[in-house]
Amino acid sequence: MKTALPTRGRATAAVLADLKEFGAQDPNYKEGRLWSLVYYLDEDYADFMGDAYREFSSANGLNPTAFKSLKRFENEIIAAVAEMFHGTPEVCGVVTSGGTESCLLAVKTYRDLARARGVSKPEMVLPTTAHVAWFKASEYFGVKVRLLPLDKDLRADVKKLPRLCNRNTVMILGSAPDYPHGNIDPIEEFSAIALKRKIPLHVDACVGGFILPFMEMNGRKLPLWDYRVAGVTSISADVHKYGFAAKGASTITYRNLDYLKHQMFVYQDWPGGVFASPALLGTRPGGAYAAAWAAMQHFGKSGYRNLAKRTTQAFDKMRKGIEKMPELYVMGQPHGPLLGYGSCDPEVNIFAVGDQMDAKGWKINRLQAPDGLHAMITASHLEVMDDYLRDLKEAVATVKANPELAKTGSAATYGMMSHIPLRGMVRQKVLDMFAQMYKAGGEAIDLNEQPPAEPGIKGQINAVVDTVAQWYVTRQQQKVRRK
Ligand SMILES: *Cc1c(COP(=O)(O)O)cnc(C)c1O
Repeated sequence: MKTALPTRGRATAAVLADLKEFGAQDPNYKEGRLWSLVYYLDEDYADFMGDAYREFSSANGLNPTAFKSLKRFENEIIAAVAEMFHGTPEVCGVVTSGGTESCLLAVKTYRDLARARGVSKPEMVLPTTAHVAWFKASEYFGVKVRLLPLDKDLRADVKKLPRLCNRNTVMILGSAPDYPHGNIDPIEEFSAIALKRKIPLHVDACVGGFILPFMEMNGRKLPLWDYRVAGVTSISADVHKYGFAAKGASTITYRNLDYLKHQMFVYQDWPGGVFASPALLGTRPGGAYAAAWAAMQHFGKSGYRNLAKRTTQAFDKMRKGIEKMPELYVMGQPHGPLLGYGSCDPEVNIFAVGDQMDAKGWKINRLQAPDGLHAMITASHLEVMDDYLRDLKEAVATVKANPELAKTGSAATYGMMSHIPLRGMVRQKVLDMFAQMYKAGGEAIDLNEQPPAEPGIKGQINAVVDTVAQWYVTRQQQKVRRK
């Protein structure tokens, strides 16, 4: 796949034709077959986003004083979000490039706020279901994670929270909802503890921020998680998820400027000039901000309420449909719009069910601890829900009738990865796979497929790891059966 830059440039039409062709091999999200990654409505709406983006695709929000238009988008997006989350007029914030940037910024901000008070060994408390972006932030910014475990109903075990806090705790995190199971953490209980100990509390509403407020407006009873809860000091919310903006737009808001101040970066001695930046990026994509603003103007409260209504219908339908299948169970008590489900029948390997679903043309994410399959449900899924549930029922029956399916395909890989006791080996294997993909001339590898055996000592080590893992998984399965 080595492609040099063409010696002679090509006509734009030919290049665009190539783009279309490359896209043809991607997951079929336009017909609702994909259950993560993409929020899609229809071609007209995609064109609208493209137009809004194009208008500002050269504009740069690096210097917020240069493009008045971009600062206006930012002000209006932040003001709208503050109102959606029941903030006071003091709520302020920044538009970022995505949820990960928003999460990274919160950790940097609270680390530096605590540093100003003399904390040199920062820690933060994360429920185990916190999005990976928080673990990334821990690594990037040197803030140690204290993990808050889940109780038997897969809810963050708030009773254990006080013991995890100490003088070095720079922040506590809650999610609304969490990505793996779609559960809203008990934010009011977190808040009571955070207020008592004067620790900032961030709510990660990256995925929920643009749907939960509208589910509530539609009459759905949900636990409180936004600025109505006194201890909540900041909230992240992605416009490029349930806000249906083009990719590249999220928000982070703070209860007041005393927090946001610590997010700012200024360097006054650079030969290139005095430099100030409110967020992580240098160049900030004007197109993404324009598209986010355009999406919010187009939907308004009525449009988002309508999307939330269809999404909730799809979610309820899926939840009930899965609960009706005796071999499966829905994880925890999800508030939506995401859920995880697993197998409660020792003869049904849930990853093998996932493989059967993949074979039927669906694309479904895998969960671990506990093992399961995942669904991020959007309004467009309402139309395919009957097909999905019918195929799921068939997939379960096929796996039950063919136990050997648990030893092949992704069932083998994920079974191994989620059970192998030596997690360091899993980490190393995944790092190796990424190295394969990103080395010069590397190609994408499908995690669902078993990698080909490698020659040499490394291949032998990998083969031994696989054998140990297989043995371990088989033993675990036998244990389950005996129970
Ligand atoms: C998606 C998500 C993120 C990260 O957002 P990206 O836009 O993918 O970087 C963070 N937290 C939660 C809960 C999410 O669902």
